Amino acid sequence: MGNLLINDPVESRRPAVTRLKVRSAVTLMVAVCLSMTVILIWEAWSSHRYHLRDKEVAMSNLAQALASQAQDSIKQADTLLFTLVDRLEHEGADQSRLPRLLSAQRSELSQLHGLFVFDETGRWLANSNGVGQEGLNNADREYFLFHRDHPGRGPHIGPSIKSRSSGEWVMPVSRRVNHPDGSFAGVALATIYLSHFLQLYDSIDMGSNGVINLIADNATIVIRRPFNSSDIGTSLSKSPLFVDLLPKGDAGTATIKSIIDGVDRVVGYRRVEGYPLIVFVAVNKDEVLGSWRKQTLLSAGLVSVLLVVLWMLGYRLIKLMRRQNRVQAELLGTQEKLLGVNRNLEQLALNDALTGLANRRQFDIFIESELGRARRNQTSLGLLMLDVDHFKAFNDHYGHLAGDECLRKVSAIITDNIRSPGDLAARYGGEEFAVVLPGADYVGAFLVAEKIRRAVQEANILHGDSPEGQVTVSLGLSACDASSLAGPEDLIGAADKALYVAKTSGRNMSVIAN
Ligand code: GH3
Ligand code: MG
Ligand code: MG
Repeated sequence: MGNLLINDPVESRRPAVTRLKVRSAVTLMVAVCLSMTVILIWEAWSSHRYHLRDKEVAMSNLAQALASQAQDSIKQADTLLFTLVDRLEHEGADQSRLPRLLSAQRSELSQLHGLFVFDETGRWLANSNGVGQEGLNNADREYFLFHRDHPGRGPHIGPSIKSRSSGEWVMPVSRRVNHPDGSFAGVALATIYLSHFLQLYDSIDMGSNGVINLIADNATIVIRRPFNSSDIGTSLSKSPLFVDLLPKGDAGTATIKSIIDGVDRVVGYRRVEGYPLIVFVAVNKDEVLGSWRKQTLLSAGLVSVLLVVLWMLGYRLIKLMRRQNRVQAELLGTQEKLLGVNRNLEQLALNDALTGLANRRQFDIFIESELGRARRNQTSLGLLMLDVDHFKAFNDHYGHLAGDECLRKVSAIITDNIRSPGDLAARYGGEEFAVVLPGADYVGAFLVAEKIRRAVQEANILHGDSPEGQVTVSLGLSACDASSLAGPEDLIGAADKALYVAKTSGRNMSVIAN
């Protein structure tokens, strides 16, 4: 059935979209914070590696320089020993000339503390230092025992000793002297001042906990800086240097824990070429990483402050977004309610409260627009005016409420008998109804009118004060064709007149306007 109600626009799902925005904002914030943290950790890690690597390179270079210096210093003394042994073996020991010779040679080298010759029993044969040697015997010294027991002809470096002649700490470099038959004939010994090495080592900045070691091949300490006489001769055979590093190569770098003081150190080491000696340099890892730690802490502090600020701003933003969502949802709810109220108002404005049919207002608008359409589309339009017969008497007899009920029944019968969706049934006023039939001509309108009239009759609504004994209706109908220039008033007036004719002609009939 035709009506003028306009469908309300359904609101889009705006809150869902905004919720998505809040989630995106949270995700973005978490992503930014995570990225910053990852970048910070990555930076710190690579900087840590760089600092250690940098120091390892420095230690490697230092070990190389010190190995070279040790080689030079020892080689100078050893060359003297070599020629001395050669002379002793081939020319024999001329005991009267030997001390002078040794003394002269010793004075050539500033690092040299002394030159000594011992026979196969350890007895002093000659020395460069002019020390009285009667009764002196060095058969108990490590170098003496070594050469006595090893036939090798190479130089030997033993643990540093306190000189018996001068009381100074010296490094013994020795070679074996043989009899012509190859048997042990004694030892030639050159002693080098430890201070010669320590002066240099002390001038190198190794930090507060740095170490420089000269270590013999048998893993005993020859010199250690910082100097402590009790360290001399200590065995390092169980240290990572001998257990892990030296088996891998003659030079290298690493980060290891000292077995002497338990300190973690960045180390460099290198074998001294041609001598059974290893240079080992090490700096405290904590000191190496001191500047790194400061820098990392500073970065971490800055990033933390940034993160806190970011979180605060993000938190505020999300709170604002949430509040906006709430307000929006409330607005939408209100809008929904308003639309409902609006619908009711429209219903009230366009429909009759008693019967639910279109009211007079809707009827006026509808017939006007349908006439226009009929004219444009060159179609016809039919109109029925219907009036309940003797209704005043019905009211008087059965009461006003029963009258209302009767009007509702008649309305329902009208609605049931106009099936075309474009038709409109309206309460025209009181007990009078109108039906607009777009597209219907006189014949069509008459057929609908009769259908309604008969249906009312068949409903058999009791009416004691009517000559028929039941409720009946009278109808007047008019129609305009495509060529007509009639307005709504003309159509209504014609139908009204026909209705009047129906009333005056005996009621309960349909009359076509002429
Ligand atoms: P006729 O056959 O010539 O149409 O006579 P009638 O009595 O139907 O006509 P009349 O115009 O004299 O009376 C109409 C009555 O309809 C008067 C009024 O009380 C009654 N009426 C109008 N509107 C309503 C309504 O909404 N409810 C009820 N119960 N009665 C109504
Ligand atoms: Mg009337
Ligand atoms: Mg009437």
